[in-house]
Amino acid sequence: MLNYCTVADNNLSAPRQAFDVPRLNYEEKTMRLILLGAPGAGKGTVAKMLTAIDGSVQISTGDILRAAVKEGTELGKQAKAFMDAGDLVPDELIMGIMKERLKEDDCKSGFLLDGFPRTIPQAEQLKVLLADLGIELQAAVNLDVPRDVILDRLTTRRTCVDCGAIYNVKSAPTKVEGVCDKCGGKVVQRDDETEEAISNRLDVYNEKTAPLAGFYRDEGLLMDVTATSSEAVVAAIRERTGA
Ligand code: ADP
Ligand code: ZN
Repeated sequence: MLNYCTVADNNLSAPRQAFDVPRLNYEEKTMRLILLGAPGAGKGTVAKMLTAIDGSVQISTGDILRAAVKEGTELGKQAKAFMDAGDLVPDELIMGIMKERLKEDDCKSGFLLDGFPRTIPQAEQLKVLLADLGIELQAAVNLDVPRDVILDRLTTRRTCVDCGAIYNVKSAPTKVEGVCDKCGGKVVQRDDETEEAISNRLDVYNEKTAPLAGFYRDEGLLMDVTATSSEAVVAAIRERTGA
């Protein structure tokens, strides 16, 4: 368990001034961002676009957990039931992962946290962890996408049960409804992408993760972006970070 009571004020509450001060070294230019936003808000897409720009790394706790489940590691075994139920994995497991991950060498060229932190305790412990590592965050970018847009995005995806091909009923439909263009297999909506399952994930988000916007506002780090397109989000972030 991390102790976050003894760390002195580490200046995170001061307003960001990254662009008013001369950039002295490489470290200052590197991206150090948290991406906040509901499932389907486009965090992963934006993270991938940003890493392509400056060589920073995308750190997705969801990806790390899925890999652990696939490999059947102890972590994967502990996380699987929570993930299958659409619930959050316990904070202790997540902090164990991130404590190690943020110490890895590739983080020196910058990092984008995608899907972490997801609860207030995670955010509080991350603050201590970063202070210990001497890392200062630039911003917590909050991708604000209306719930109906998110539901629409997540519910229009369709998958072929035979070959795994992905379709979208609006933007990339099959030629014949319900029939895979590639193999003729049945194209369906996945169990965890039904309106009901997605609605559950969004409820967990609203209850546990949405309060992080207030947390980072108080820290002077919140950057709200009303995400219209991923390109527009990336442009806004680059303006803010100088990347
Ligand atoms: P999505 O954003 O589509 O809901 P992710 O790929 O970010 O999914 O995460 C998948 C699952 O992994 C989550 O539903 C949750 O069970 C678990 N998970 C990922 N990151 C965290 C985290 N920071 N805290 C707790 N659970 C997490
Ligand atoms: Zn198919």
